[in-house]
Amino acid sequence: MDKNFQEEFTQIIKFKPPLYKQRHQFVKDLVEKYKPKKVADLGCADCSLLRMLKFCSCIEVLAGLDICANVMKEKMHTLSPLPLDYLQPSERSLTVTLHHGSVAHKDPCMLGFDLVTCIELIEHLEEPELKKFPEVVFGFMAPSIVVISTPNSEFNPLLPGVMLYRHPDHKFEWNQAQFQSWALETARCYDYSVEFTGVGHPPTGMEKAGFCTQIGVFIRKYPQTGASVQSEKPTEAVYETVFKAVYPSLKDEKYLQNAVIGEVIFTAQIIKHRLMSKHEEYGDDPERKSKFQPSMDCFSDYLGKLVVEKNMEPFVSGNEVYIPLATIFSFPKVNRLCGTFEKLCKLIAGKVTLSSDGSAIMFNIEHENEEN
Ligand code: SAH
Repeated sequence: MDKNFQEEFTQIIKFKPPLYKQRHQFVKDLVEKYKPKKVADLGCADCSLLRMLKFCSCIEVLAGLDICANVMKEKMHTLSPLPLDYLQPSERSLTVTLHHGSVAHKDPCMLGFDLVTCIELIEHLEEPELKKFPEVVFGFMAPSIVVISTPNSEFNPLLPGVMLYRHPDHKFEWNQAQFQSWALETARCYDYSVEFTGVGHPPTGMEKAGFCTQIGVFIRKYPQTGASVQSEKPTEAVYETVFKAVYPSLKDEKYLQNAVIGEVIFTAQIIKHRLMSKHEEYGDDPERKSKFQPSMDCFSDYLGKLVVEKNMEPFVSGNEVYIPLATIFSFPKVNRLCGTFEKLCKLIAGKVTLSSDGSAIMFNIEHENEEN
């Protein structure tokens, strides 16, 4: 490499977005492509990749592992559910767990993952750890996909200030041939295929240097049979769990019930409000009472259609307003949450006031009339 040419580049190479973000985006794109449900990040450090992945709606189980408990603990609170997660529970379930331990050891809590990510991890491993790593990750955990990123030492001359390695804790940095031969041998040994790519493009004219970060994406060739998973795996736990968050989810009956009751009351209140304004407008004239007039707003239009087409008419009787459950069930959000009419009835039983035959929600408007 021409030294002047090289020096010129060392002044200007600056990745946009920063390289760590490009690596994390690479993983996110992979998640969006393969839609894994269970993802483990080995060497998760301050959990920044996990924080990004928790927003991927396909993921139901997220786990992090690091040998340094302190670095994980620093920001692990940011993986906890927020108040909004409780106010609007998600349809999917999500559990986030952090473990303290080494990738050189097997622990049953790392079984059953679809995707395992090792971003800038292997270059931090001592030789004996690196030797055990393939057996732990590919042999024991054996996920469908493994992604491994590591610095490409051929790019180092283009980076300002790099003398030997990019980070003082790195135990080695491989060139492209070294990484690829290790990866191909590992893939061959454990029945995976591997494809190479990277992030951080070299400048024009320096393409031979390759990506700044080299990446191997390993795909397991054969599906794992239930029997092989169970039989050979030791059960002794060696990792310490340092954090666990279970996100509120509509899959949990308690959150589903809250959401359904909230939505049912909201829908019923709006219907009641519309009904009352018509009632006031037309009084008790039986000819005109509770006929929904054409309206500019779509809620009234929808309600009007229901009344006309399906005879699911809410009505006022004395001090009581009755809104048929069938009407409420036909509203898309209630319908989607409950799935069946029977489920709606079950979830609201004892939580809202119903007519004596249980077919309608009942509101007493006596006090409302007094206030008016
Ligand atoms: N993956 C992170 C940061 C990687 S830095 C990111 O994408 O930003 C490497 C991390 O690996 C460090 O946090 C270090 O503590 C952890 N580590 C080093 N040796 C390890 C081992 N044997 N087992 C698990 N984690 C290890």
